[in-house]
Amino acid sequence: MDSFISKNRLILGIITGVLMGGVVGSFFPEFGTRAQIIGELFLNALKMVVLPLIIVSITLSIMKIGNLGSLGLKTIAYYAATTAIAVSIGIVVVTAVQPGAGSEIFSASMPEVVKSKEGFGVTDILRQISTPNLFKSAYEFQILPIIIASLLFGIAFGKLKKENQLILELLETMDKAIMKIVHWIIALTPIGIFGLIAGKIGEAGGGNEVLEMATQLGKYVFCVLIGLLIHGFVILPLLLRILSGRNPVTYLKDMSESLLTAFSTASSSATLPLTITNTTENAGVSPKISKFVLPLGATVNMDGTALYESVAVIFIAQSYGITLGEGELIVIFLTATLAAIGAAGIPEAGLVTMVLVLQAVGLPIEGIGIILAIDWFLDRFRTTVNVWGDSIGAAVIEKLEPDKNTV
Ligand code: ASP
Repeated sequence: MDSFISKNRLILGIITGVLMGGVVGSFFPEFGTRAQIIGELFLNALKMVVLPLIIVSITLSIMKIGNLGSLGLKTIAYYAATTAIAVSIGIVVVTAVQPGAGSEIFSASMPEVVKSKEGFGVTDILRQISTPNLFKSAYEFQILPIIIASLLFGIAFGKLKKENQLILELLETMDKAIMKIVHWIIALTPIGIFGLIAGKIGEAGGGNEVLEMATQLGKYVFCVLIGLLIHGFVILPLLLRILSGRNPVTYLKDMSESLLTAFSTASSSATLPLTITNTTENAGVSPKISKFVLPLGATVNMDGTALYESVAVIFIAQSYGITLGEGELIVIFLTATLAAIGAAGIPEAGLVTMVLVLQAVGLPIEGIGIILAIDWFLDRFRTTVNVWGDSIGAAVIEKLEPDKNTV
């Protein structure tokens, strides 16, 4: 028993943090709101370490692996395939359940964040690929340009062969130092998560309010959650089993700290430090592979978001009494995939990129107002599936690139 507790101390602490946060936020919302500062400090500490972590991890991985082509292609193909499966599940579930049929529209005012994104399209996603100013991107926490710049530097340093010895040693030392800081932050996860959950539920007015909101849009919430459940508990574990040969239950246990952190922060990017430590240290996935596959995944691979986008858009159409044809469903399939790729790994980013999907099929953007109230709640579940999908990607790609496994 003692050894069980000492081995699982952190995860038991995190679970206690989640539960206590839930209780305090539900029954003492005012106190919960005040506890939010603890969560904020924790989240900021995680975010602070994300950019250096991504830059060093990706540059170093590429320098060591050398052949980006095959690894990159396999990673992108795997991520694109799982995202497409997720969108399909969303479309099937929402079409079968018809959560919006006959429902009245609760609120159709357009939220501010969305208003400024009117006209958001595919080119806006493409624009994220390159940046004229890396410091501005870093300042705005736009991770995709940072990843691309790190890839380029990694390839360039790799080509310098002997001349790169100094930079290799420097990056390796920085990598070790960053991981040390990550471990210090991880030790604070239970209390940080307590603050985040208590604060969020407290801010929403306590447990009753949350429950009321969830039941108002009950059928829609049900569709998103059931879709996420199918993808997270059936499809992804099957892929893990078949493609990597790993036991999904053991892998889930290994990843539990990062999954609970994803749930509490609603941010794949902020969770990245934990996702990397869990896959490499608990599950034993090669660091070289993980440190390339996971930062990329946290930014572009969002199975949960993709699934949610398709459910939400079709639900909005149903609420307006609009019947979508097959062609429109195909457009939703394609644009929801793009919208998930384009969404940043930060809270409620999916809500904003949904504009692209709505516009592509000519639905009113105001429709987002219908699902706005409950979005922060669903965000936690979809972010958890996003991170789960990324970490399974790391195990699968490790298997598909066996010659790169040695550290
Ligand atoms: N919060 C999600 C994430 O960080 C993105 C979203 O769907 O809003 O993965």
